[in-house]
Amino acid sequence: THFGFKTVEADKKADLVAGVFHSVAAKYDIMNDVMSFGIHRLWKRFTIETAGARPGMKVLDLAGGTGDLTAKFSKLVGDKGQVILADINDSMLKVGRSKLRDLGVVGNVDYVQANAEALPFPDNHFDIITIAFGLRNVTDKDAALRSMQRVLKPGGKLLVLEFSKPQHELMRQVYDMYSFKILPKMGDIITQDAGSYEYLAESIRMHPDQETLKAMMQDAGFEQVDYINMTDGIVALHRGYKF
Ligand code: SAM
Repeated sequence: THFGFKTVEADKKADLVAGVFHSVAAKYDIMNDVMSFGIHRLWKRFTIETAGARPGMKVLDLAGGTGDLTAKFSKLVGDKGQVILADINDSMLKVGRSKLRDLGVVGNVDYVQANAEALPFPDNHFDIITIAFGLRNVTDKDAALRSMQRVLKPGGKLLVLEFSKPQHELMRQVYDMYSFKILPKMGDIITQDAGSYEYLAESIRMHPDQETLKAMMQDAGFEQVDYINMTDGIVALHRGYKF
């Protein structure tokens, strides 16, 4: 931006996010299971079903972290397809790569360290892009969405799986209490790192709600944008196409 202080704020956020994911990488998977009571597996499964990956397709799993979606896509696109797991954080990439290798997910998967705001891929390249629980951490979300739009093929599909806004007041209260009070304590016990989980709760609260994210995707050039709430809107899956 033109304003120095904004750049400083942006750098600060990027540093904070980097610190959080370097810190949690080793225990990221177990924390996901514990904190979501395993429900993140259902959210991810639904995302995969919605993606409609077929043999031969090129898929980008952006902010792919420890590779849960990549592992599933790898099976679906087969030998002739390709999955790229891209993430800005080398600690997360390392954990992801070694986990997937242990699972025998090899051959059609590549790992790329990249910032979602400036993707190092050619125009019109991917059939499917997913970003699961990643967009929230990106400093310039509009730049990231435009970058995804650029590298998606015409006819291609973007899926954004992200925390969103619970639809019922009661759920909102329970969820706020859970994420601000209980979650940092659990983080502290399991990872000795309450700060990272305070960041998590804060980043969830700051993230655009369903309609705002939909408008952001439209502004970035996506068409037929819609979303599906899961678990009362604690999480939403947004879908958009490039034509
Ligand atoms: N997609 C995985 C999942 O659903 O389990 C990992 C999600 S994890 C909560 C968020 C990931 O976003 C981290 O691995 C982090 O390094 C990555 N990330 C944060 N900012 C990013 C950016 N600007 N570009 C690419 N990845 C980023």
